[in-house]
Amino acid sequence: MKLKLQHYINGKWVGADSDDTRTIINPYNQEVIATVPEGNETEAKEAIAAARAAFDNGEWASTPATERGAIVRKIAEFIERDKEELAYLESLDTGKTVEESRGDMEDIAGVFRYYAELADKDGGEMIDSPVANSISKVVREPVGVCGQITPWNYPLLQASWKLAPALATGNTLIMKPSEITPLTTVKVFQLIEEAGVPAGVANLVLGAGSTIGAELSANEDVDLISFTGGIVTGKKIMQAASSNVKKLALELGGKNPNIIFADADFETAVDQALNGVFFHAGQICSAGTRLIIEESIHDEFVQALVERVKKFKLGSGFDEDTQMGPLISAEHLQKVEQYVQAGIQEGATLAVGGKRPEDPELQKGFFYLPTIFTDCTSDMTVVQEEAFGPIITVEKFSTEEEAVKFSNDSIYGLAGGVWTNDTRKAERCAAKMRMGTVWINDFNLYFPHAPWGGFKQSGIGRELGKLGLEEYTETKHIFQNLNPEPINWF
Ligand code: NAD
Repeated sequence: MKLKLQHYINGKWVGADSDDTRTIINPYNQEVIATVPEGNETEAKEAIAAARAAFDNGEWASTPATERGAIVRKIAEFIERDKEELAYLESLDTGKTVEESRGDMEDIAGVFRYYAELADKDGGEMIDSPVANSISKVVREPVGVCGQITPWNYPLLQASWKLAPALATGNTLIMKPSEITPLTTVKVFQLIEEAGVPAGVANLVLGAGSTIGAELSANEDVDLISFTGGIVTGKKIMQAASSNVKKLALELGGKNPNIIFADADFETAVDQALNGVFFHAGQICSAGTRLIIEESIHDEFVQALVERVKKFKLGSGFDEDTQMGPLISAEHLQKVEQYVQAGIQEGATLAVGGKRPEDPELQKGFFYLPTIFTDCTSDMTVVQEEAFGPIITVEKFSTEEEAVKFSNDSIYGLAGGVWTNDTRKAERCAAKMRMGTVWINDFNLYFPHAPWGGFKQSGIGRELGKLGLEEYTETKHIFQNLNPEPINWF
């Protein structure tokens, strides 16, 4: 199937109204991989009108949930069928290794499958009524027209967390993928069309956040906005969404702690501390970038990390032995470099990395060496702000209380980890860590059944799990008096 690089509005593939286009580049070598139409407020408004009409005619919302579930299941099957093509496109677009992309595609199919199964499981519930001869029931209905905005780091994975529950519950939607990485989302809209989602129910508009994203956030015909991205954008969206008091779901950044106690399994903790950060070159919202290590093993642990990091193989995501690909863009590379400079200026010690690789083969891409800072304190910029790159900061602790205190010393609260063989200590820490997900003796594991989202400034609401479905529903109480009689008050 040839990729239709167009907007998908009201069941039709359409080009831009203007001649505007955007080139999409491969971050590995800066080669142009695609040219896509650049939409603006005009296409956004057309898509919103289509989604509004498709919701208001009631057909999709009143389609039996089992049928909607069957369509969502078909999308999962098509994703599995086209997994190789999707993984190829994702790696081309993001630079991540194709092995990572294949894993993403399996997870994405799993998300569609999970919500397909849940689609017809909530038929509402009867509740106890204080009035004799009455029926009191609580039902869930779709919210309406949903604007969905996604980032570039896990383009299709983040889209799937929004598309699958919105479709399963009978909403209509307009998706705006990151302008940097739209390819797999375009492809999945072809699969959505193939699966038989009716015209107008799912719409896709390609282009910038400042135009399309801003329109989706402010437009009064949109009932819910679901956003995954950075905190600065999240705050803008929150303000814009106040126009008509939209329902709001925000998945924002993280600066995630990973506590290593001396009694943890040393080799496993070292290995997983690396996995926790350096997949996709650290461009993961839940990356465990703040390592908090017990004093007695600190030096040995850092040495083990540095030795492993020095052997990392950077390169093309399509080379089998590549472990880490490039950063997403020149602009992002510059941002990561600035955080490293800030770390040096504020007194952190550079244990490894801290520069671009010298390998001539890597000069065309946006590569940065995996970097570890020691002697870090929680007041440092590089410890507090999300660099979203391959950087670990190490803080040293001597007591359990101190470890927990360091872990919570952040405006963010997305995820965190704790490594110890003492189960009670692990539980005590997990209970005190102010984050949406805490892993004990693991890191970065997520699956469709478990809710995902942040405490504090990491966001509002949850994706995945049953809560991720409920985000796309309104709750209605219907009370029926079976024996109405005058009250004779007035
Ligand atoms: P970003 O905020 O720059 O962009 C995200 C999306 O918002 C893009 O589609 C962009 O076009 C759009 N956008 C930009 N300005 C807008 C505006 N004014 N109104 C509406 N939309 C606008 O983020 P990014 O750089 O693409 O992604 C990286 C960020 O995403 C990181 O902070 C990362 O932590 C976060 N993230 C969070 C999660 C999570 O689950 N919490 C998952 C993945 C990524």
